[in-house]
Amino acid sequence: MRGCLDGLDGFVISPGIDPESPLPLAARELGVPVIGEIELAFCNTDIPVLAITGSNGKTTTTEWLGYTLRKAGLNISVAGNTGYPFCRAIIENPDADFICLEVSSYQLQTIESFRPLAAAILNITPDHLQRHGTIDGYINAKARIFMNQHDNDLLILNRDDRGSIPLAGRTSGLEWYFGIGESLEAGAFSEGNSIYYSDSESSRFVIDAGDISLSGLHNLSNALAVVCLAGKAGLSVEQMVRGLESFPGVPHRIEMVRKYHGISFVNDSKSTNPDSLNVALKSIPEPIVLIAGGLAKETDYGQLRDLIADRVKVLILIGDASDMLERCWSGTAPVFTEGTLDNALKRALDQSVNGDIVLLSPACASFDQYGSFEERGEHFRTLVEDLV
Ligand code: ADP
Repeated sequence: MRGCLDGLDGFVISPGIDPESPLPLAARELGVPVIGEIELAFCNTDIPVLAITGSNGKTTTTEWLGYTLRKAGLNISVAGNTGYPFCRAIIENPDADFICLEVSSYQLQTIESFRPLAAAILNITPDHLQRHGTIDGYINAKARIFMNQHDNDLLILNRDDRGSIPLAGRTSGLEWYFGIGESLEAGAFSEGNSIYYSDSESSRFVIDAGDISLSGLHNLSNALAVVCLAGKAGLSVEQMVRGLESFPGVPHRIEMVRKYHGISFVNDSKSTNPDSLNVALKSIPEPIVLIAGGLAKETDYGQLRDLIADRVKVLILIGDASDMLERCWSGTAPVFTEGTLDNALKRALDQSVNGDIVLLSPACASFDQYGSFEERGEHFRTLVEDLV
């Protein structure tokens, strides 16, 4: 193994490679620096970075922020874990005013000097524990997003998220919060139906919560994070409003595909853990025919039992996790185990009536049957569009 490392100045590893696996370990032992692509790009640009991490909502919030800043006339790159690499962004748009950067916990494991002007951590729930070992390992990976911050850099935390409590009081920079329901001194909050933005000087009304373009309490929370970051980027309240009220959303995240014979079909293929299924079920008031399953995460699916009993009229299971999910959720709703999405959709049609929602929100990874959650979502879309 040593031979292939001879003469290297550095080693840039993909986020999919565990930095503790044999090759990166051997490189470090030989004194060869091991970094990731985020670090590489950061060392080669002066463009200020607005970074977003968290267990759920990263892509939505990063895209929403980029959309809002662009609407205000700024030159913005949206990059990182969204799929458009940070390195590519600095090459293709070297004059950007800001980079809105989605960063995953894997990517944060391989930074050294990365220092965002502002960093938002949206929420922390157990995820990717096979890599990080324990929840503390996962939290510490997320905490790296602010480890190099200076006095005037900003860390934004979610006041409503218990998982984020261990991150409080740890940045050397400023600490702001966002939260639903009670006012905050610095950050963004909603009170009643109104959203406010507070900096150290004043608290200003931004927009009615009902006027933001995405529904669900989780998207209210994402919008509040956008307000904080947009404020740090210098946007006026009026400029924030234009982005908050018109952002169209990101495909595969509670995305309405089609209405067919009065039944709505919603694609939430990006739901790859129980938390995202939790928010999907809470944001849909209509009776739900739920299609779930795939490759399970190492986490507690039983926590959703009450919500499923309350919201789901029929449960249709697919993929590897079917047996496990059936055990966890038995007795909550009538269950059909269908194996594939094709069969699941036939069953869903059979079980739904005018006014129902057929929701694909798997709460599991897609890799047992698909190459990605996008592929799974596109398959669902095609099946639904082909209904005649
Ligand atoms: P990420 O990039 O962190 O995976 P996405 O924006 O792609 O987040 O959304 C992933 C899933 O999580 C979707 O199913 C979406 O509906 C749900 N989601 C979005 N925002 C939040 C949030 N703030 N809290 C919990 N779930 C969320």
